[in-house]
Amino acid sequence: MKLRKGNLKTKLCQLALIPVICLGLATLVIASVSVYISTANETKDGLKNLAYMLHQMCDIDGEGDYWVKGQHLMKGNDVFDNNYKIVDNIKRTSSVDATIFYGDVRMITTIHNDGKRAIGTHASLAVVESVLKKGNDYFSRQVSIGGVSYFGYYTPLTNPDGSIVGMVFVGKPRIAVVEAVMATVFWIFLLTLLVAGFTVMMSIHYAHKIVYSLDKTKEFLGNIAKGNVEEKIDPNILKRNDEIGEMGNFAVSLKQSINQLVSTDSLTGLYNRRSCETILTKIIEENKKYKTKSVIVIGDIDLFKQVNDTYGHQIGDLVLKELAIVFKEHMEHKGIVARWGGEEFMFIYERMDMERVYEHLQELMKAIENMQIPYNDEMISVGMTFGAALCDQDCDIDQIIKLADDNLYYGKNHGRHMIVIK
Ligand code: GH3
Ligand code: MG
Ligand code: MG
Repeated sequence: MKLRKGNLKTKLCQLALIPVICLGLATLVIASVSVYISTANETKDGLKNLAYMLHQMCDIDGEGDYWVKGQHLMKGNDVFDNNYKIVDNIKRTSSVDATIFYGDVRMITTIHNDGKRAIGTHASLAVVESVLKKGNDYFSRQVSIGGVSYFGYYTPLTNPDGSIVGMVFVGKPRIAVVEAVMATVFWIFLLTLLVAGFTVMMSIHYAHKIVYSLDKTKEFLGNIAKGNVEEKIDPNILKRNDEIGEMGNFAVSLKQSINQLVSTDSLTGLYNRRSCETILTKIIEENKKYKTKSVIVIGDIDLFKQVNDTYGHQIGDLVLKELAIVFKEHMEHKGIVARWGGEEFMFIYERMDMERVYEHLQELMKAIENMQIPYNDEMISVGMTFGAALCDQDCDIDQIIKLADDNLYYGKNHGRHMIVIK
C-alpha cells in the first residue's frame, strides 16, 4: 500500500498561528486607536484648563483695558507682560506654548520663528471667526504655526467690561502627543507580542504532541497491517484522556482481535496449528537454552468419521467443542493444547519427563471416557489414541513431530485407544 505523506503538524500550526496573528493585530490596532483618542482628549482638557488659567493670570496682572502702543500690548497705563514672564512660566511649568493675541495678531508668545519670538503673525481665519467674532472657545488637533503642528486651544481675551479684544492660546506640539501615544502603544505591542508568542509556543507544543501520538498510532497500525501482530503501542498514547487515547485503545483491541483470529481455531477456541508451531519453536529454543525437556503428544479421536456418519456433522462439531473444554482444563499449569488439524490435537507438556506425562495422559483418557454427550436416548462418548515423543535439548522440530506422529500411527494400527511413548 502506498503511504500518503501528510503534513498535519504544519496544518495544525497554521490553524493556531493565523487566528493568533489576526487577533494580535486587531488588539494592537484597537488599543492604539483607543490610546490615541484618550490621549487627545486628555490633552484637550489639559490645554483648556491652562488656557483658562492663563486668561485669569492676564486678568489679575495690571488694571484697565488692553490696547496697543507701537509693538507693545498695553493694559491700562502699563506695558503688559513686558518680559514674557507669564507665558514663559506656563511653558516652563507645563511644557506647552502660550500666546496672547490682540485681535488676531500675536503680541506675546513662547513660540519662536528663526530664533525670534513669532510676534506680529496672525491667527487663522477659522480661529478668528470662532473666537474673536463668535466668542467661542476653539480647539484643533492640527494648528499649524510656523510649519509646526500643534494641539491648540483658544479662548477669548476680554477687557474688564467683558468685551473681546483678543485671544489666549495654549498649544502642545503634535509630535509630543504622538510620542506619548507611541510610548504607551509600545508596551501594548510588547505585551501582545509576549501573549501571542506564548500562545504560539503552546500551540506548537500541543500540535507536536498530537502529531507524535498520531504518528505512533499510525506506525503501530502499519506494523499490524504488515502482519507484525506482536507489535506494542507506546503506553503514553493509551494514557491520553482524549480521542487519540481512545483511538490507541481501539488499535490495541484491533490487534488483540486479529491476534485471536489468526492464532485460534474458530470452532474449539484452541490454538490453531500455525500458532502451535510458533509456540513449539519457542519451547524447543528454551529447552536448548535452559537444558530442559518437554513432551510433545499428538492425540487423534478414534473412529470419528463414524460419529459424523451416525449422528451428523453438527454433533461431530459438538464433540470437538466439548473435548476442547476437557483438554483446556486438563492442560492448565501443564502446558498448551492446540487443534493440530481435523480431529487431531497437539499437547505440549512443558518441562516434564515422560513418566509424568504418561500419568497425565492416563488421567486425560479417563476424563475423555467420562465425557458423555446426550443425543436422543443415547449417550455419545469417544476414545482417543495418543502418540508421545520426548523433546530434550537436542530436539529438532520436524523429527519430534514425526516421532509423535509415528507413535500415534502405531497406536492406530494396534487397536487404538492407547498411549504410545516408544
Ligand atoms: P481413526 O481412528 O483411524 O482416526 O478414524 P477416523 O474416522 O477418526 O479417521 P478418518 O481420517 O477416517 O476420519 C476423520 C474424520 O474427522 C473425517 C472428518 O469428517 C472428521 N472431521 C475432521 N474435522 C472435522 C470437523 O471440524 N467437524 C466434524 N464434524 N468432523 C470433522
Ligand atoms: Mg481419527
Ligand atoms: Mg486423523
